[in-house]
Amino acid sequence: MKLHYYNNCVFCGSKRLVKSSIQKYKHNFYTKAISSDFEISNKLFSRMKIYECKNCYSIQNNPWFSFEDSFKIFNHIYGQHNRSWQNLLNFFIKDIKPDHGNIYKIIKKNLNVKKYAEFNSPFTGLMINYFDDEYKVNLNLRKGFFNATLNYLTARQVVNLSKNKKKERNKKAIEYLRYIKNFKDKYYRNKISKFLLVDNSNLTWVYNDNYKSVNSKVIASKMFDMKIINLYDEKVFNYFDLFGIFHTLDHTHQPKKILDFALNNSKIVIIYCHVNRNIEKQHLFSLTEKFKVYLKKRKIFFYDVTNKINKRYMTAENYIICSKKKFNLNI
Ligand SMILES: [Zn+2]
Repeated sequence: MKLHYYNNCVFCGSKRLVKSSIQKYKHNFYTKAISSDFEISNKLFSRMKIYECKNCYSIQNNPWFSFEDSFKIFNHIYGQHNRSWQNLLNFFIKDIKPDHGNIYKIIKKNLNVKKYAEFNSPFTGLMINYFDDEYKVNLNLRKGFFNATLNYLTARQVVNLSKNKKKERNKKAIEYLRYIKNFKDKYYRNKISKFLLVDNSNLTWVYNDNYKSVNSKVIASKMFDMKIINLYDEKVFNYFDLFGIFHTLDHTHQPKKILDFALNNSKIVIIYCHVNRNIEKQHLFSLTEKFKVYLKKRKIFFYDVTNKINKRYMTAENYIICSKKKFNLNI
């Protein structure tokens, strides 16, 4: 297997990359799967060295997997984004929301959100919180809605079935769709407009991010009435009140472009990211705590709310609320 050389900083494009003094690595669940499916040796992993960018302070592996192999990692080897789906199932089956501490409350206190956008992954941020606010329903009703949507989408998969089976499925699909419509008509209120901006990067889960053969973005668009917009297609953009980037800024080859897009098109941007300096080999790059120094240099206003949101379980990660314009955040 041929590795690809990323000689400029993947985040900001700077050439000021300095080799890190610590180069040891450990295998984990992901690298073990990559190693076995690609049939590659530990020697190849040890060729990937860790560098720090002296401009934006992100760290990256170089060389690393090519664009083509990244696609295979995120669509063949672990095509299903486990954590993201788990968030959805936890909420609709067990009544547990994703844990972002009280960041949603803080946002509600400070900002009147009419248009909300997220980047690339539909269940890792606040979409579930917005749904919960829009539909004040008990767990049974919520479960019913989730199952009806999942069943509707699978009922529309009819390839290779007999005529009778196709007829049967069509009947079912119509029933499920009626259920979904009734549920929305009855319980939907306080509408906000929701958008998922996607770049379909080879560093993110796209085509095989499925549960029971239904794709995450497809079910999200149906359940949340969320518009899915390709970042590179749309010429006229909406101006968003809030833009959430939840664990997805390090899952694109164009992170700076995404962040700049979010800042230029929204009042407030939330960045939730790993800041682990011991970057693991399944990641091309990671931001660090010092990313805030870079934001300051770029005159981007921000609040680091990591230690203010009372999150139950915290790893090496940051929650940054930022904007191009000065703003007050009441915590
Ligand atoms: Zn950089």
